[in-house]
Amino acid sequence: MYFTERYVIGENNDKSIVYNVLNQLPEIERNSVIESIIFLMPFEKPVCYLKTEIVDGRSIVQFSNHFIKYSDPEEEHIISHEIAHFILKHECYGNIPDNIVKEQDLASEELAKKRFYDSLNNI
Ligand SMILES: [Zn+2]
Repeated sequence: MYFTERYVIGENNDKSIVYNVLNQLPEIERNSVIESIIFLMPFEKPVCYLKTEIVDGRSIVQFSNHFIKYSDPEEEHIISHEIAHFILKHECYGNIPDNIVKEQDLASEELAKKRFYDSLNNI
């Protein structure tokens, strides 16, 4: 069963994983993430059509089908890493050189550890 709400589109289990990660953030930061990002979780269906009213100027964090093979704590880790990219106002890779992508990944990993990992399960 798929669902769509303001900040996450996907299956129920993925919804609760995103929710768990967002709950680790202070309310003001959590609201900022929810207002700015759509988490587009893996779909079994081949395509997903998002109307402009849904996207509404927000960024999309898209997860490929590889995401499905991870455990819930691993998924929380990945989601927190992507949120850290947003908090750090990083550029989308593809628009920047590889060495900068690497720097951004390290910075995101560091922030994700500080903000989230204490309260999430170790993996
Ligand atoms: Zn990254």
